[in-house]
Amino acid sequence: MMYGAIEAGGTKFVCAVSDEQLEIKERVSIPTTTPEETLKQVFDFFDQYKLTSIGIGSFGPIDVNEKSATYGYVTSTPKTAWKNYDFLGSVKKRYGIPVAWTTDVNAAAYGELKRGSAQGTNSCLYLTIGTGIGGGAVVDGKVLSGFGHPEMGHLLVSMHPEDDFEGVCPYHGNCLEGVAAGPAIEKRYGKKGMDLADDKKVWEIEAYYLAQALVNYTLILSPEKIILGGGVMKQTQLLDLIKKEFANLMADYVNTPALDEYIVTPELEDNAGITGCLLMAMEEK
Ligand code: ADP
Ligand code: ZN
Repeated sequence: MMYGAIEAGGTKFVCAVSDEQLEIKERVSIPTTTPEETLKQVFDFFDQYKLTSIGIGSFGPIDVNEKSATYGYVTSTPKTAWKNYDFLGSVKKRYGIPVAWTTDVNAAAYGELKRGSAQGTNSCLYLTIGTGIGGGAVVDGKVLSGFGHPEMGHLLVSMHPEDDFEGVCPYHGNCLEGVAAGPAIEKRYGKKGMDLADDKKVWEIEAYYLAQALVNYTLILSPEKIILGGGVMKQTQLLDLIKKEFANLMADYVNTPALDEYIVTPELEDNAGITGCLLMAMEEK
């Protein structure tokens, strides 16, 4: 049997097909433009195969509430062509097979739990720090979901004493995403993150915000692993700074797993999302 996966990002869609062993047979990357244009290429790719099921991990916000009239839609995205678009419905209509539907970060969390850094556990949290900040969690082996999906990137944080940046989130200004995602770094310093590698203060401030978020996630969910991915984490000095600040803020209140084991990067690297989508496809009935 063959399974399909769509990791739908705001910049590009990665599509893949695999066998039952999760061996990826072929993958393509398609630019995210309009739903019509992008999905035409997605369908051209999948039409070559006889698929059993498909898993979608999408950028969001998306409607994941099965009781909702707009279940399967992309909802309030700034990418206007996709706003209120019935993404799941379009894929289901085309293939008439089971299609799993979740967020890109939920898929990555699930992939890491089953095949990556969190293997052997029942719970983990995956956070991406890139163009935006998004998080997904697996609790008791299942992707965490309530009336909708979590929006962990928009957590409210305390400002660093040396930072008076107003933030870039159109909704909240200086929420976590507003002060710590890639575009916030770029706007605050007038340079891209990758060109600020040697500026220690930049990454101390960055770690200060991310550590606050991680403390809060820990207090609420107590996940067995926290996995940090996304472009900004390519600054490898950041991980240690985050752990240090996390220890400082947590102040030994919660006895977490050893921080070197607890706060990690994705073992599946850039394949976390696509792996999660394939696993969810296999489990979708
Ligand atoms: P996306 O979030 O769009 O899926 P990424 O996770 O690659 O994509 O994140 C892109 C963001 O990460 C950009 O804002 C970019 O400036 C930032 N970024 C990418 N590489 C680096 C790096 N080496 N150091 C710091 N920031 C980086
Ligand atoms: Zn926000």
